[in-house]
Amino acid sequence: MNREYFPILNEKVYGKPLVYLDNAATTQKPVSVINALSDYYLRINSNIHRGVHCLSQLATNEFEQTRETVRQYIHAGSTQEVIFTRGATESINLVASSFGNTYLHEGDEVIVSEMEHHSNIVPWQLACEHHGAKLRVLPFNDKGELIVSDLEQLITDRTKIVAVAHVSNSLGTVNPIEDIIRIAHSHNVPVLIDGAQAVAHCPVNVQALDCDFYCFSGHKMYAPMGIGVMYGKEHWLNEMQPYQGGGEMIKDVTFDKTTYNELPFKFEAGTPSVGDVIGLRKAIEYIQNIGLEKIAAHEQALLNYTTEKLAAIEGIRFIGEAAHKTGVISFLVGDIHPYDLGVLLDNQGVAVRTGHHCTQPVMTHFNIPGTVRASFALYNTFEEADMLTSAVVKAKQMLS
Ligand code: PMP
Repeated sequence: MNREYFPILNEKVYGKPLVYLDNAATTQKPVSVINALSDYYLRINSNIHRGVHCLSQLATNEFEQTRETVRQYIHAGSTQEVIFTRGATESINLVASSFGNTYLHEGDEVIVSEMEHHSNIVPWQLACEHHGAKLRVLPFNDKGELIVSDLEQLITDRTKIVAVAHVSNSLGTVNPIEDIIRIAHSHNVPVLIDGAQAVAHCPVNVQALDCDFYCFSGHKMYAPMGIGVMYGKEHWLNEMQPYQGGGEMIKDVTFDKTTYNELPFKFEAGTPSVGDVIGLRKAIEYIQNIGLEKIAAHEQALLNYTTEKLAAIEGIRFIGEAAHKTGVISFLVGDIHPYDLGVLLDNQGVAVRTGHHCTQPVMTHFNIPGTVRASFALYNTFEEADMLTSAVVKAKQMLS
């Protein structure tokens, strides 16, 4: 689908056609996004918001238009709830730090799940350490599905927030976040959703979900690196302390006291990555032109097809067999180390990721050093799925 918009897919590695199956790490960029970046620097590069001059106003308009595009894309109620960050990691750190500083006290509890990316664990550990709070963990079963029924017991009157992934980057599981949010809210506990692996693969409606925070990165959804979003419900953002201090986030500064700017600027200290923000808009428009439903259906077909093909390989073991998955396949073959398999796939032009995928607790759960992970985007093909399968077969022969 639409491969001609992604020039990098014509590259050869070691003289072989590139089969790019590392999309959960980062997606490739369509020409409209690449052109938007050069167009920004060629025509309107300027610092935003405070400039009276023409270029500054043009850049500000483009920047703020993107906020509206993001608002529509995730169905937020207001652009005041859309905060630009450097990526999902910074978005989660922002919430852990600001929410933590405002609400976490000694003896309080934060719940994360066992399948979280390190960037939805470590910021909470830091916040807990800082405030004397405790981290509690919602486990998953051996298929890689969260045991949601445990949540009722885990939540106590000291629970201050639940932070959980929409989609797991190492297992591919789509979590039942509607249920998680409903249970947490019935105890008046807010919920942060890490949407890094979801926003490019399924429609997201933060108002229908009723989540309190939703965090994601642009670079996993065809946009440039270095740009991300933190959605937060307005009432939390109004109450929370700012994350960083500096220009843009203030209303008045004296040496005695500083008052903060209104939302969303209160959480956007300093000069933002304006060109990358505009690139994010082009990426969203690109996705919308194709349609998320169509993209999801294509990736689901690829997931089913590839899983079936790989399953025929003797000794293969899938890590993550949830009933509801996106286009992420983690696997091991016999006792071959995932790194060795990854290198041999790379030699054949097939780009996959190996290792713990920043989810060490997941690897601990399965008592494995890591996995080989193939992950799909809208431009992947069934031929590429076949190339992956034959490359695995060949690598297995070479290693045994
Ligand atoms: N959460 C999940 C589920 C992820 O897959 C990733 C990236 N691998 C992140 C958070 C962090 O994203 P970034 O590195 O773009 O900040």
